[in-house]
Amino acid sequence: MSLRDIITARIRSDGPISIADYMADCLLHPTYGYYVTRDPLGAAGDFTTAPEISQMFGELIGLSLAQAWMDQGCPAPFTLAELGPGRGTLMQDALRAASKVPGFATALRLVLVEASPVLRQAQGERLASYDPAWIDSVADLPEGPLFLIANEFYDALPLRQFHRAEDGWSECRVGLDGDQLTLGLAGAAAQPALDHRLEDTKPGDIVEFSPAATSVTETIASRIAAHGGAALIVDYGDWHSLGDTMQALKDHEPRPILDTPGEADLTAHVDFETIALAARAAGCAHSRLAPQGVFLERLGITQRAEALARGAGDKALSEITAAHRRLTHPAEMGNLFKVMGLFPVTAPPPPGLTV
Ligand code: SAH
Repeated sequence: MSLRDIITARIRSDGPISIADYMADCLLHPTYGYYVTRDPLGAAGDFTTAPEISQMFGELIGLSLAQAWMDQGCPAPFTLAELGPGRGTLMQDALRAASKVPGFATALRLVLVEASPVLRQAQGERLASYDPAWIDSVADLPEGPLFLIANEFYDALPLRQFHRAEDGWSECRVGLDGDQLTLGLAGAAAQPALDHRLEDTKPGDIVEFSPAATSVTETIASRIAAHGGAALIVDYGDWHSLGDTMQALKDHEPRPILDTPGEADLTAHVDFETIALAARAAGCAHSRLAPQGVFLERLGITQRAEALARGAGDKALSEITAAHRRLTHPAEMGNLFKVMGLFPVTAPPPPGLTV
């Protein structure tokens, strides 16, 4: 039995499924899901993320959150949370830097939202000294001040894809052509969640929408609005997404999304407008969208790279220079990745972001 067999049997009995249902099965099926069965990160895996490129990324994120914590009067205790912490590298770097801020380490309770048992184990090995608690869903985040980071988490949330028709929206679905998985369109229907996209789209356009992104953001934003805190959301994407941005990656190479269910990473560009609208609805402020390169420069990544380079050998020096470029340069991750902050309406945005 493979995941393809399971999905095929499901479609045969119930009919075509949404892209969101397909994505959820591929990534998180309890036995065959992509994240459930492996550690996908790094050169030997399918993709590499910013914290795996350099310690500078996590350190600067940690310091931005620590300053936001000080700006709000050092609430204690507070929850320090990460959504989808991967190998725990970002949080380890963030905590090493932020623990230099007096009182931060003793006030925090570390909570990790992670679906993958394999990655939970890697996180436990790196973060044992901070005594983390794991939860399955943001709905289980404790009530109280919340300082949170999500790097490349939202891009893995299941999303629905709609094609604009003359008389409404047709949802793209995964069905069967004989034994083959295939993409097709359902009949056109009204979609109230996409009413605000009727103005900037025309028939033939494709719009993606992640109901999970809305509910995750509403939960985080209502905690922050009620109790204080801040969230830094980093991902590739933009404002007002348009077009088909779903992609499958295996061994660092793009693949057709239906080819290898459960064997390839499946992601889509994040529509930060969805996040902003959900934050506002929950009574929380959000920053402007900042390109990752601009955000990291504002936080002093060049000075940090210079400090690390001092006394480093030639090999380490060229690694630091390459990492700085990869994280910040517009032709690399600097512009493709964006950062949005959530914070209480009475507080300033976390450092590195503007309103
Ligand atoms: N933030 C890390 C890892 C990014 S990969 C880094 O930057 O390196 C995506 C992460 O989110 C993985 O840890 C994956 O297991 C987790 N994840 C994906 N979907 C999830 C979900 N619905 N609930 C909880 N964790 C999820």
